[in-house]
Amino acid sequence: MDGGFGGQFDSDTAAGLLTVDLAALRENYRALAARLAPVRAAAVVKADGYGLGASRVAPAVFDAGCRDFFVAHFHEALPLKAVLPIEARLFVLNGLHPGAEARCAAAGIIPVLNSLEQLQAWSSCAETFGRELPAVLQFDTGMSRLGLSETDAQALATEPTLLRGIHLLFVMSHLASADDPDNPQNREQLAELHRFAARFPGIGLCLSNSGGIFLDTDFHGALARPGIALYGGAPTANSPSPMRPVVRLDVRVIQTRNVPAEARVGYSGTYVAKAGTRLATIAAGYADGLPHALSNRGAAYFDGTRLPIVGRVSMDTITLDASALPTGAMKPGSLVEIIGPNQSLERIATDAGTISYEILTRLGRRYHRQYC
Ligand SMILES: *Cc1c(COP(=O)(O)O)cnc(C)c1O
Repeated sequence: MDGGFGGQFDSDTAAGLLTVDLAALRENYRALAARLAPVRAAAVVKADGYGLGASRVAPAVFDAGCRDFFVAHFHEALPLKAVLPIEARLFVLNGLHPGAEARCAAAGIIPVLNSLEQLQAWSSCAETFGRELPAVLQFDTGMSRLGLSETDAQALATEPTLLRGIHLLFVMSHLASADDPDNPQNREQLAELHRFAARFPGIGLCLSNSGGIFLDTDFHGALARPGIALYGGAPTANSPSPMRPVVRLDVRVIQTRNVPAEARVGYSGTYVAKAGTRLATIAAGYADGLPHALSNRGAAYFDGTRLPIVGRVSMDTITLDASALPTGAMKPGSLVEIIGPNQSLERIATDAGTISYEILTRLGRRYHRQYC
């Protein structure tokens, strides 16, 4: 993946190396599938496979046995159709915009229907095509985000022809608090989904994201939809991730300097380095997905040594306090670890005041990406 820069970010000249461990990803898929068995595990590969490259990630999990793939937008599904074998099923979480139905049906992509409008449009598309079209029906059980409401469900019960031409594969909902096992909202949502699903006997449930897979088995339904756990992120908040890390990010040092007398560092001089401090400037900043909120917070690692971020994060650079290293240990061209064995994805997300999902999906396009 060259991110539109004509492939010039080769591993020797790139400012940063983003390594995606596809073997670890496959292992994470197999671990989740084993936990769920006999329930099936899909893979959520929206937002370009959580920033890691859906065209690489999806075939890798297919090889590990995955056959069901969820994206957010119809346009994310089309390119995956081209890289996945014909047995793979592609689902569109956000459903379809009015007018996209015929293209979706022609491409054999399966929408999640989130409203009566989407349901009606898919049903009339089936009529036009003269055959049944598959779909997932989502109900809102407590997020107020997407899905049919109780009123919609009643309308559907009195007017079952709304489902004409639709081959219903799953009844779906989404958990708001699955990363918090003690949150009573989980059971409330499960009970709500069972109430909705009672109107569709024999149709399997599709409920759990990564967090839901680590709740009781009654949350597992018939098909689970893990995302973050596949990519090594923690499925449960405030607990270390039981998954294998998939991402490693190393960034090159551009320049090192000794501070002879007290000196301000970075924009607005928010940090003042003492005389004798050794600084290192590295070649990535907020344009590469390292949040501005890491200004004077968090760290990078070199040979296992923690080097605190000092001053503001710039667009293309970050300055580190490298005083803990022996003189000469770090040189221009050296690589420092941003995500890796010393610093987890969760650690950097917490330091930036965000979540692992946001760090992954914003990883910049200027890194050399290598898949192993
Ligand atoms: C993103 C998403 C998922 C995956 O969630 P994770 O927490 O990453 O496992 C599952 N279902 C829906 C509806 C989603 O939007």
